[in-house]
Amino acid sequence: MMLTRYVLPGILCLIFLQTVHAQEEPSATAWYRQYFTSRDHAPVEELLEQKEKELLEAREIQDDSARVFVLLQKGLIQLNYAYNFEAAMDCFLQSLGAADSARLPSGEVFSYLALAHIFEQVGNPEKSLQFLERAFAIAFALKQPEILALTLNELGKASASAGRLDEAQEHYDHALRYKQELPDNGLEAETLYNLANLSVTKRDFIQALEYYKQSLTIRRKQRLRLEEGILLSEIGDTYNNLNNRERAYANYKAALEVYQSIDFKKGIAEAYNQIGEYYYNQQNYKQALANLELALAAGQSAQTKSALRKSYEYLSLTWKALGDFKEALRHKELQLAINEFIVKEESDQKLLETQSTYALQQKESEIERLERAKQDRERELAEQKRIQMYLYALLGLGAVIAVLILYLYLLKQRSNRQLQAINAQIEAQNIQLQTLNTTKDKFFSIIGHDLKGPLNSLTSFSNLLINHFDALSKEEIQNIAKDLDKSLKNLFALLNNLLEWARSQTGNIDFTASPINLSEVLEQNKELLSQQAAAKDITILYEPGEVIMASAHMPSVTTVVRNLISNAIKFTSPGGAIKLNAQKKSNEVVVSVADTGVGMSKTVMEKLFRLDAKHSTLGTANEKGTGLGLILCKDFVEKNGGRLWVESEEGKGSTFYFSLPVA
Ligand code: ADP
Repeated sequence: MMLTRYVLPGILCLIFLQTVHAQEEPSATAWYRQYFTSRDHAPVEELLEQKEKELLEAREIQDDSARVFVLLQKGLIQLNYAYNFEAAMDCFLQSLGAADSARLPSGEVFSYLALAHIFEQVGNPEKSLQFLERAFAIAFALKQPEILALTLNELGKASASAGRLDEAQEHYDHALRYKQELPDNGLEAETLYNLANLSVTKRDFIQALEYYKQSLTIRRKQRLRLEEGILLSEIGDTYNNLNNRERAYANYKAALEVYQSIDFKKGIAEAYNQIGEYYYNQQNYKQALANLELALAAGQSAQTKSALRKSYEYLSLTWKALGDFKEALRHKELQLAINEFIVKEESDQKLLETQSTYALQQKESEIERLERAKQDRERELAEQKRIQMYLYALLGLGAVIAVLILYLYLLKQRSNRQLQAINAQIEAQNIQLQTLNTTKDKFFSIIGHDLKGPLNSLTSFSNLLINHFDALSKEEIQNIAKDLDKSLKNLFALLNNLLEWARSQTGNIDFTASPINLSEVLEQNKELLSQQAAAKDITILYEPGEVIMASAHMPSVTTVVRNLISNAIKFTSPGGAIKLNAQKKSNEVVVSVADTGVGMSKTVMEKLFRLDAKHSTLGTANEKGTGLGLILCKDFVEKNGGRLWVESEEGKGSTFYFSLPVA
């Protein structure tokens, strides 16, 4: 007693949970289908308690999808094992809401399928179909073949029970189209079984046989004995309908063996009943009795009232045929008693269903509320998406405009830079042109005035000699000749500078540097000009020390030194002195020419090296000049990579310096 009441159900429950769990992995619908095919299960209270625990766990770890599925399982237990429609509906309403807020469309599909079942069970196939349509719409969008096939099967069954046989056929055919994509062929076997039942409804028994047999092949491969037994029994019934009693008998016998192998008492009772009925029809009353007695025993242990009723009915008929009216009456009475029981149970069920229908209708408004909320949310979401799209479009447009502006800015920047470069070039060219222009002016003015002056005096001297030669004394002629010579020398020096300058300006001088000995250059120039200095009673002082080498163009440096010494002689009064010096300073050599002459004011110093501010004064012996020498010197020194500058004080003398790169 203890064993059957507590231990066995516990073991069965464990097996059941394990099968559910094991099948959950490969198949998305097996856990659900299990609740409709399982014949054995643990006591409802235990199952519900277990689910309650799982719900708490799911809530604790905030696993929304686990919560949805546990709610569904709890509802299915209430629906299929406890027949508590209201409680089941509460669970499915919760699972529907939870699936919706957890964005779990598969949870929504199962919730709608389960809700459809409730209405199917309380005899409202139209309502059931409505929920199935909703489940199908979501499953279709979900594109999961297994869930779709399951939904189509449910649609088929509901359509069939609503009398829409063609629609049912369409749904099953549609479901079969997914058979290649299913993880196992359990659903295919189920669809074939449903198709067979539909064919029976249409009284197309040949077609029904075909479908049952196809389904049987699959179930045998799957080694699902219970399903195999059910199919064999259905095949037997179908042969019976086709009046093929022998075939019917063979299949009942096979079904019985299968049920016996798994000790499925209800099945065993039904199979013995069918075999007993067969023998009764064959008028083999002995065999009929034996089988019906066995059916009765199995039916009693399985507590299946419908099987018991059939056993009593045929036992009564058989006894009557055998002439034992007493036994016949006793069994007839038992049949009627159990029938009464069944009818009462059925009417209780009907009453329960009617009561439930009202409660369920109340709850339906909850579904509508859920659906409205969902629609509102979807609308809101769509609106948000639209706004988002506008924003993105605006952002995109902004980005394009920004890029365009940046591109234009960069383009302008580039053309500005180009313009600036061109301007700078033009500026440089302008300066060059101005310099060229001043050079040209200077050149012409030198040719026009400075060259004309000495030539004029030369002509007047030569005229004096030609016209007054006889009137002039020998001494006077000698003086004129001396003046003539001085003018010629001046002219020569001027022409020399002019030519060299012209050459440097036209770029005809190659300023290639080579190592030069500066002491030598200074020494040579001192020698060259000492006579000219002596004529004015001026001494040139130079004491060469260590050899100082510079890197420069020898002829141009010589010109610079000669010009500077000439100037010093020119602007120093008799009795004065000129001091030459060369000194090495880090990486340059500095040469200086210092005199004790007239010196210069600051204003004069500022004008010295400028072509545009021609400055020239007479020397201490009235020597004429052109203001070209220093400009030439500065130009030459700079072309050699050096600098030229002056330090001077009026009346005290001047010192001209120039630097050159050291060799
Ligand atoms: P020029 O000597 O032919 O006039 P320069 O270019 O050699 O041309 O000199 C320009 C002017 O600079 C001179 O006329 C003079 O006024 C001034 N100058 C040059 N050297 C000296 C110097 N050593 N002492 C004073 N003044 C000088």
